[in-house]
Amino acid sequence: MISKAQQILKKHYGYDNFRPHQAEIIEHVLDKKDALVLMPTGGGKSVCFQIPALLMDGTCIVISPLISLMKDQVDALKTNGIAAAFLNSTQNFSEQEEILEACNCNEIKLLYVSPEKLLTDLEVISRMAKPALFAIDEAHCISSWGHDFRPEYTKMGFLRDRFSAIPFIALTATADKVTRRDISKQLHLKDPKLFVSSFDRKNLSLDVRIGIKPKQKAEEIIDFVKERTNQSGIIYCLSRNKCEEVAEKLISAGINASYYHAGMNADDRAKTQEDFINDELQIVCATIAFGMGIDKSNVRWVIHFNMPKNMEGYYQEIGRAGRDGLPSETILYYSYADIILLNKFASEGGQAEINLEKLKRIQHYAEADSCRRKILLNYFSETLYENCGNCDVCKNPRKHFDGTTIVQKALSAIARMGEKEGAQMVIDVLRGSRRIEILEAGYEKLKTHGAGSDINSMDWQRYLMQMLNMGVLEIAYDENFVLKITPVGKDILFGKRNIELTILQAILPKEKATREKRIKTVVAPEEELFDVLRKVRRDFAMEENVPAYIIFSDATLQAMVMDKPKTAKDMLHVSGVGEHKFAKYGQTFLDAILDFLGESYLKKKKGDTYRETLLFYQEGLNPDEIAAERKISSQTVYSHLAYLYQRGNISNLDEFVSWPEVEEVKKAMSIVGKMVAMKPIFEYLNESIPYHKIRLAMAVIEKSASEKR
Ligand code: ADP
Ligand code: ZN
Repeated sequence: MISKAQQILKKHYGYDNFRPHQAEIIEHVLDKKDALVLMPTGGGKSVCFQIPALLMDGTCIVISPLISLMKDQVDALKTNGIAAAFLNSTQNFSEQEEILEACNCNEIKLLYVSPEKLLTDLEVISRMAKPALFAIDEAHCISSWGHDFRPEYTKMGFLRDRFSAIPFIALTATADKVTRRDISKQLHLKDPKLFVSSFDRKNLSLDVRIGIKPKQKAEEIIDFVKERTNQSGIIYCLSRNKCEEVAEKLISAGINASYYHAGMNADDRAKTQEDFINDELQIVCATIAFGMGIDKSNVRWVIHFNMPKNMEGYYQEIGRAGRDGLPSETILYYSYADIILLNKFASEGGQAEINLEKLKRIQHYAEADSCRRKILLNYFSETLYENCGNCDVCKNPRKHFDGTTIVQKALSAIARMGEKEGAQMVIDVLRGSRRIEILEAGYEKLKTHGAGSDINSMDWQRYLMQMLNMGVLEIAYDENFVLKITPVGKDILFGKRNIELTILQAILPKEKATREKRIKTVVAPEEELFDVLRKVRRDFAMEENVPAYIIFSDATLQAMVMDKPKTAKDMLHVSGVGEHKFAKYGQTFLDAILDFLGESYLKKKKGDTYRETLLFYQEGLNPDEIAAERKISSQTVYSHLAYLYQRGNISNLDEFVSWPEVEEVKKAMSIVGKMVAMKPIFEYLNESIPYHKIRLAMAVIEKSASEKR
C-alpha cells in the first residue's frame, strides 16, 4: 500500500520522498484507524489525508472552518490532477446539487465542507458522497482551551459514533497537551494514535525587543526593511488603526507596503493578499487575520509590532516565515502598554481565566533570559537539550547584577504613593518629574521623588517589567492597572532579601552587526532566473484565476532555479513537478529556462558556446565544418542552430529542414504529445527524419506557436 502511496506522491505532487510521519500516518489511516496529527504550519499535513482519499473507495470528507480558503485548496488539488470540490454557504442550491450529484457518481475524491454545512446537510451528504474517511482540519478549533475556539466544531462529537466504521483523522498545527486531549475527547476519537512532528523551525531566528517606544519601533523597522530589498515580510499589529498607521509610515519612507485587516471590504483584502502572494507587494501590515493558510514560501521575515495574545498565535504567525526552509528572521516587540491592553481584552472577553493564563505564558517567553527556542518548544511539549544559537539570548547572553537598591527605590516609591498608581506615574516620580498631576497629588514632596533620575524612563520600564516577571510586583488589572507590591517585594523593600536584575541590553541594533547578519538567499543570476519563472507563473495564475502558488510553489521554482532542467525528463525530476502540472505547464517553464540560459550565455563575451557557433555560422561555415572547428558533435551544432533560431539570431532554417518535414514533425507531435522528447517522434516517423532535423523542426514549430500567442 505504501509503495502505491509513494507513487501517488510522485505522480500527483511531484515529490520523491515522504516527510517524517507522513507515510506512517497514511498507512495508519488506510488501516481504518483514528489519528491525531500535530504538525507545524507548512509541515505537510494535507497529503496525510489526501493520499489515503485517493486509495479508498468513496469520498474523503474534509471539515475545515476556513470557507475563504476552500476554493484555493480545491483548486490546488485540481491542478495536481485530483478530483475535489467544496460545499459551503457561498454556493447556490443548484451548484450544491451538482456537486453532490458528482459525488454520487464517484467523481469526487475529496469533498471540503464547513462544519455548519456538514451538520445541516449530513444525511444528504452521507447518502450522496459515501464517506470513506473524515479529516478534521484545524482541529484545535474544537477545544475551548485552544486559541481559536469555534463553537460549531463542538457539535461534531456525535459524527464519530454515527460513522463508527470509518476512520477519522484530526489535524492541527497548534495544540498544547491539554488541547490535544480535548480534541480526542470532544471528537470521540477511537483510541487515536498521536503523531507529533517536531515543531522546531531551525531556520527561523527568534528575537525579542523590549520596551521600545512606538515611534522608535517604526524607525527601526524602516531601517530593517531598507536593508532587505525585495524580501517579503509581514508586520503583525494589534489593531486596525495600527496596521494602517505603520503601513503609511513605511510607504512615506518609500517602501512597497500595504495593510490588511477585517475592517476592509472583501475585494480590497483579496487584492492585498493576491499582490503579496504574487510578490507585487513587499510588505503587509496586518492583524492576525492575515496569512491563514497562505502557502507563500518566501516570506523572509515576520515582525510583531505588538505582542501576540498567546504562544500558539505567536508560533503560528512567525511560522509564516521561511516555509521554504531558507533562513528567515522574526522580531517580537514587547511593551508594557501592550500587556495592559491585552490583559484588558483577555479579562473582558470570554474564557477570561484561560486567556489570562495564556497571556502570562507568552509574557514569560518574552521576558526570559534563557534560550527562547527552548521555552517555545517546551510550550509545545518538546525538549531541546542544547541552546539554539539562533535567538537573541543565545547570541547575546544575559548578565546579572545585584539590583536590590534599584528595586528598593521603585518599591519605596510605590509604597509611598499608597499602591495607587500605574507604572508611568511611578517612573515619572522616580525620575523627579514635576508634571501637573504629580504636583497636584503632592508627590514631589516624597522622599523618593527624583531618587531614580540616573536611570532613563525606558530603562525604568524594563526594570519594572523584570520586577513583574520575578513576582516582586503585580498589576491590579481590576483596579485601573495600578502596581501592587507582593509579599516577596515587601521582603526586599525591608531589606530581608536581595534580588538580582538582568543587565539591560542596548536596544538599538548596531548598524554594522545587522548588515553583517544580512541574509543572502540567492545570488544574483539565480535571482534573475527566479524572477523570469515567477513571471511565467504569474501569467498562468492570471489566465486560470488562481493564486500563483497553486501553479507552482516558490519552493518548486527555487528547485527549478537550482536544477536548471533542460529536458522534459529533467523537469519531471524537479521536486514539486507532478505529471499533471508537467503536462500543463512544464514545457513553458522549460522553454523559459532554456531561453534564459541561452541568453545569459550569449551575454558573455568569451567561451560562450552558442555565440561561437553563431560566429562560425555567420562566416558561412556549414554545420559539419563548425563541428570540426569547434571539436563538438554536429548534433550539438544543430541544437545550437535551433536555439539561435528561436532566439532570433538566425532568420530561418530553410537550408537545413524543409517545410514538408516540419509538417511531418508537427503531425507526429500532435499525436505523441508535445511535451515529450525527440525519440517518440523519431520512432513515430519510422526513423524517416533524422534527429537533427526533428530538433530544428521543433524549433520552427515552437517559434511560430509562440509568435501566434
Ligand atoms: P500544512 O497543511 O501542514 O501547513 P501543507 O500540507 O500545505 O502544510 O504542505 C506545505 C507544503 O509542503 C506544500 O507546498 C506541500 O506541497 C509541501 N509538501 C508536503 N509534503 C511534501 C513532501 N513529502 N515533500 C516535499 N514537499 C512536501
Ligand atoms: Zn537560543
